Order: sequence, then structure tokens, then C-alpha cells
Amino acid sequence: MITGKSYIGNKLSGKGTKTYKTFNPQLNLENENVFIEASAEEINEAVKLATIAFKKFRNISGAQKAAFLNVIADEILALGDDLIRVYCSESGLSEDRAKGERGRTIFQLKSFANLVEEGSWVEAIIETAQTNRTPIAKPDLRKMSIPLGPIVVFGASNFPLAYSTAGGDTASALAAGCPVIVKSHPMHAGTGELVASAILKAAKRTEIPNGVFSNLNSRGIEVGVKLVNHPDIKAVGFTGSIRGGRALYDLASQREEPIPVFAEMGSINPVIILPEALNRRESNLAKTYANSITLGTGQFCTNPGLLLGIKGKNLSSFIQKLSGEILKIKPSCMLHPNIIEAYEKKKLKAFSQSGLSMVANLEKEEQSNYARPTITTVEGKTFLENTTLHQEVFGPFSMVVQCEDVNQLEAIILKLEGQLTGTIISANNEAVDYSSVIEALKNKVGRIIFNGVPTGVEVCPAMVHGGPYPASTDSRFTAVGVNAIKRWVRPFSYQDWPNNLLPNELKNENPLKISRLINGEQTLNKI
Ligand code: NAP
Repeated sequence: MITGKSYIGNKLSGKGTKTYKTFNPQLNLENENVFIEASAEEINEAVKLATIAFKKFRNISGAQKAAFLNVIADEILALGDDLIRVYCSESGLSEDRAKGERGRTIFQLKSFANLVEEGSWVEAIIETAQTNRTPIAKPDLRKMSIPLGPIVVFGASNFPLAYSTAGGDTASALAAGCPVIVKSHPMHAGTGELVASAILKAAKRTEIPNGVFSNLNSRGIEVGVKLVNHPDIKAVGFTGSIRGGRALYDLASQREEPIPVFAEMGSINPVIILPEALNRRESNLAKTYANSITLGTGQFCTNPGLLLGIKGKNLSSFIQKLSGEILKIKPSCMLHPNIIEAYEKKKLKAFSQSGLSMVANLEKEEQSNYARPTITTVEGKTFLENTTLHQEVFGPFSMVVQCEDVNQLEAIILKLEGQLTGTIISANNEAVDYSSVIEALKNKVGRIIFNGVPTGVEVCPAMVHGGPYPASTDSRFTAVGVNAIKRWVRPFSYQDWPNNLLPNELKNENPLKISRLINGEQTLNKI
């Protein structure tokens, strides 16, 4: 049941005065439930509870954290069709997508559960003492990762489950031992409240301290700003626009105690189609890319918004085929009227730039909140000189850039901002002749794809979902896969500490049987 209230720790609370509703973009109507924005008092209470809870939570065992994460997954499943119904009514996304995203959310929770149960993720390093070393004895030093403290997570509009209330940021922070306060995304507040109720049931069942999780309702930036400015908050996770992510990053760095903001933001995901590949696979590629550009109504951060090729007959024919394929795909619903408004506005801004030609765009709006897929094209020189054309148009939109030659192609890549992904489409060994283009691309992206599409982000330890700014605010980390836990910890050393007072991860006996680097050797052994 949805109450419209925030969870301050395990208590439902609605003391605020501002209210709002979510929106059903398929029906073009507001949903019924009324949500109450969290008050300043409730924000402070949530942070206070999180700070108290951290004292215990930071030291609980990997096995207990794993139980908590696994039971969250069970409780989310137990929400059954109610969750799917509310998800669809607040996002315009299909039931299949809702179920797929729920499966991904559960998989992420279970992956982090396995990671912390096994325990070696803390990267324990032990250098035993050398008392006889001259001229100075070497102390015993033992290092491991420890949690930062209470974290604020901003739910993402385009992933109401997998990157929101119990999504990757929350799961990784809880796995690290950090309490989490979610600033719920206003577009899917009902989905958020249901998932929050599942997390809190799991906390109760697994005896996790009250305050390890809170879910605050808000529409507008006030609650988020107060949370990021709160002196007891130690880091921030965010997925959304460059404007929002950057504002929070600036806010966090201006605090008396600056804190890290791990924001995953905009990306146009350049795809380079090499000439021989274009020659051989034109029709096939056009269909594959039309599908990738329109997948999820283009509302994926890895959407291929920029296709680059060398000018000529083959590229012209590819552009025509891609346009034909795009026009065969029926327009689909976007997440919210604000998102489609932003899509239309950004498209208009791109169209108003001189030299950009529209090659596919439906004349008429199909239905309210349904986005018309669009393909545009531009000369390499124009694209190189006008960086407005480099900006993300979030939705089913892509631009084909017709480069004069390979030098211009490389110059364009060098001019691009940081990206989540880059893709090379190559025939057989063709890529071997484009090593400097590929090197330039590697320097701009977090993940490079060979003969595929950038959409579809596999959740696994080898995935990097991040990249140089503005793809993310810190390219050293990933937001997807178990290594996402590293964002919420800091390295910590014990020097000459008595064995019985050390955490289990660093004790001589290795009671947790984790893999540790001992005097340069990676081992499961005791000392
Ligand atoms: P958003 O505007 O960046 O908002 C995301 C969250 O951050 C919301 O909870 C929002 O609060 C909060 N927020 C935004 N600016 C803030 C600020 N200055 N201070 C404090 N909190 C702030 O993203 P969105 O609502 O998801 O979508 C808007 C646009 O972002 C889309 O049209 C799209 O262009 C882009 N977007 C890109 C990606 C991507 O992966 N590349 C993903 C999602 C969205 P309130 O909403 O409550 O104000």
C-alpha cells in the first residue's frame, strides 16, 4: 500500500506541508496518490538515525550484510504485481521492462550479497614487522577498506528500480557498510515507497539497526540540497542530467568538509563505422542501430546519439537505410511530460544549428508523451566547429557525422567530451589500420565495444559504467558491477595493532578465510 509518506528509518512520517502526485504518461493523467515532501525536521532525523546506526552497521559481519541484501531481494519479489503495476503507471514503461528491471535489481542485490559474504573485497594487505631491519625496524602494517559513513542516493528517472531506491548505488553502499538515505525521484515516488517498505522489512527480519535506511520524498531540489549540505553525510550517488549532477558536485565541494559525489550523467556514446564495414554490412547495421537508438524510447544513458563515418556513397546510402528503419519503428512513450518536453526542446536547439539536416522525423505527434524517433546528419567540419551539436538529446535521437577523411574523424574524437562508451564497427582486420583513431577513442570513454551496440549494460565484475567527465564525475570508478562498492570505502591502516584487537579480515588466523596480500604474496593462508 502506498501512503505518500517518507520512511524516516523504519517509521512512516509525513510532517511536511508541500505535496505532489506522480504522473501516468500513457494515460496523460496524474496518478491518485498524494506524496508529502519531507520537512527539514524529517531530513535531520533521518541523518541523525543514520549516523547512530553507522556505529553498529560499519562493524557488522559480511554474513549479516549478505543476509540483509538477500532478504531485500526476496521482499522486493514479494511485492508481486503491485510493484509492477505502480512502476508502469509512474513511468509509461512496459510490464516486460518492469519485470526485466526487477530481475536486474535482484541480481545486483544478490551479487553484492555474495561479494560481502565471501569477504575478500576489502583488499586486505598485510606487511609483517621486520624488527631486525637496520637502520630502522619495519612496523607491522595491515590495510583494508572501511566504509565512509551515511550516503545520499538520488534515484534515477530512467531506471525506477535498478538505479533508484534499492538500485546499484544503494546496494553497493549497504554492502560497503554505509547507511543510505534515498532522495526519492519525484516521478516514481510510489515505486520508491514500495521498494523502501521491502528494504525496511528486510532490515527488521535480519536485525539491521534502525536508521541504516531512510527514503525521503521530494519534488524540487530543496531536500536534495539540504541532504548534500548536511555535515554528517559523507558521500553522494547520483544518476541523471549533467546540470543536476554538476550542481550537486559543486555543492558538495563547497561544504566546509567537501565530500565525493559519484554522478553518472550525460553521454552521446560515439559509434565509429569504418569504411569497409559500412560497405559490407550497411543494411544489417541500419536495422541494428535503428533498434538500439529507439530501445526504451532512447532513454538509456548508453543510447548511441552519435554515428561517425567517412563521407561517400556508402555512408549516404546507410543514412537513407537507417532513416527508413527508424520510420518503421512506432513512436513510444517517454517517462514523463517533462522528459518529452526536454527532448523536443533539445531537438529544436539542434535543428536550429546551421548545417544540421533532418533525415528522419515523423511530422505528426502520435499520442501525448510519445517521442518521435529522429535521425539527423551533418558535415564533419560543421560538427567539429560547433560544440552545441555535441550535446546529448536524451531520447530516440541520433546524428550521423559525415567526415571528410580519417584525419577529420580523429580530430572530432579528440574534441568530444568524456563518454560512457565508444563503439568501433569494423570488417575483419580493418580496425588494425585505425589504431590512432581507436587510441583517441579509448582516451575519451569508460568502455569500448567492438562490432556491437552500446545499449545493454551487463552487470558483472568486468563492466565499467563510468568514464571521463561529464560521463561521470570520477572516471576511476564504475557505477555497475560489484566494483561499484569501491566508491563508498576508504583505505585504512593498522600499525603494530594487537592481533586480538584487529578486525577479523586482518587477524593472523584469517578466520574469514579471505584472500589477502601477505608480504607480497596473494594467499588464503594464515600467518
Ligand atoms: P535530473 O533533473 O538531473 O534530476 C535527478 C534528481 O536530482 C532528481 O531527484 C532531482 O530532483 C535532483 N536534482 C536535480 N538538480 C538538482 C540540484 N540542482 N540540486 C539538488 N537536486 C537536484 O534528471 P531527471 O529528472 O532524471 O531528468 C531530466 C533530464 O536529465 C532528462 O530530460 C535527461 O536529459 C537527463 N537524464 C539523463 C540521463 C542519462 O543517463 N544520461 C538519465 C536521466 C536523465 P527533483 O526532480 O526533485 O527536482
